[in-house]
Amino acid sequence: MRNDLLGSFAAVVGEKNVLAGEHDAAPYLTDWRRQFSGPAVCVVRPGATAEVSAVVRLCAQAGVAIVPQGGNTGLVGGSVPTGARPEIVLSLSRMNRIRALDALNNTLTAEAGCVLADLQRAADAAGRLFALSLAAEGSCQIGGNLSTNAGGVNVLRYGNARDQVLGMEAVLPDGRIWDGLRGLRKDNTGYDLKQLFIGAEGTLGIITAAVLKLHPKPTASATAWIEVENPQRAVEMLSHLRGACGDRLTAFELLSRTCVDAVLKHRPQVRDPLPGSAWAVLVQLGDSGPDEALHALLERALEESAAPDAVLAKNEADAQALWAIRETVPEAQFGNVKHDISVPVSKIPEFIARTESALRAEALRLPAGFPIYCFGHVGDGNLHYNVGDAALISRREEVSRVVYEVVDAFGGSISAEHGLGQLKRAEIGKHKPALELELMRAVKRALDPQGIMNPGKVV
Ligand code: FAD
Ligand code: ZN
Repeated sequence: MRNDLLGSFAAVVGEKNVLAGEHDAAPYLTDWRRQFSGPAVCVVRPGATAEVSAVVRLCAQAGVAIVPQGGNTGLVGGSVPTGARPEIVLSLSRMNRIRALDALNNTLTAEAGCVLADLQRAADAAGRLFALSLAAEGSCQIGGNLSTNAGGVNVLRYGNARDQVLGMEAVLPDGRIWDGLRGLRKDNTGYDLKQLFIGAEGTLGIITAAVLKLHPKPTASATAWIEVENPQRAVEMLSHLRGACGDRLTAFELLSRTCVDAVLKHRPQVRDPLPGSAWAVLVQLGDSGPDEALHALLERALEESAAPDAVLAKNEADAQALWAIRETVPEAQFGNVKHDISVPVSKIPEFIARTESALRAEALRLPAGFPIYCFGHVGDGNLHYNVGDAALISRREEVSRVVYEVVDAFGGSISAEHGLGQLKRAEIGKHKPALELELMRAVKRALDPQGIMNPGKVV
């Protein structure tokens, strides 16, 4: 059966795009954090939607499951096989064409395998902005971004990946192609089906292309690294800046001292913008018009909000150096117990205080003095809250239980932007209302009755 199937795949996508050898397939079988790994019958790399459809039909006939994969930068083990049943990895990497760019409609139609940074560049060349931006943008793909409803650093102004989509093309679990590639800003003709596939992590079908929203390209930017005494002051400053700068405020990122220190240790050439500050926020403004006016606006707003100290980027190189610190935080503290949570923005300070005191409570008996790396998209109420070092990983469950209890107390989410994948599939059962889980399973059954799309993930 296996050789027949490999032969059938090869007849569709060409022999060199069916990777069955251990060496060739290996990069597709382990996730970015090297936490999850599983075997696959093979890796199939289709080059067009019709080929995806034919491969899915073959899998449906053979009862072989499908793991869609983009850039394989996901952080919850969604893009690699679990090994529980025969699976193929279906890589979208070869589907990387931009099919159309309509500057007057402010839309870009791209195939799922387009790398995010390439789409940003294409929009830029047309005098537009594609607003999705995250540290993995050099390797993650738009199909993966939509499937995880990625967030990133511009959510405050432009919304999540979900907000960047007007139309979609997808291959359903029975192989049929749904062409919903419409570039309409208004279309109230029933259920918004594309939204089902966004954030579904490949469990309902395969996204093959999308019509994406473009925005006017900001001509001016202002970036500042600002000292704040504590998270409460950060949230107050956010509120003030939003009032003073309105939609010009595109990013507002918080970093604890532990995060900055970890970056300085990891990259000794990095300069600390404000040594000694307990907390820092990185702020970005964008607008049309000249840089000077925007810089003046930011300086005034910072004075009004009584920031103890701040460094304003004088030019693009300065701004990039500040952003590099923020973007290096994930790799500077690699092995520990990670969380990606959200709570209402107003509850961030209380969340941070309560979680830390619960984790350091004597009764828990965690080793004294363990670090807490708290950083992220405070403007969206989203924190990456990472605890301890490699030694604490064996106590992951206890640590996460404490963190998630506080999340639940504030009506928060245990996965703000990374999804559920394999990592949080069981955990979500403890936090989501039973009725919501039931509705999710009903949707899954309706679209994928055979259960061949990315089994063992999400639901
Ligand atoms: P993959 O990892 O390949 O896949 C992710 C999921 O989507 C899997 O379940 C997969 O099966 C499914 N999938 C992939 N392509 C398709 C498709 N075409 N159709 C159907 N299903 C598909 N995330 C954020 O939200 N915000 C951040 O700021 C952020 N920063 C990151 C920084 C770093 C350094 C890294 C490594 C990751 C970060 N992420 C962030 C995680 C984020 O989820 C991914 O970077 C990205 O969105 C996933 O894209 P990908 O192409 O790598 O998808
Ligand atoms: Zn993030």
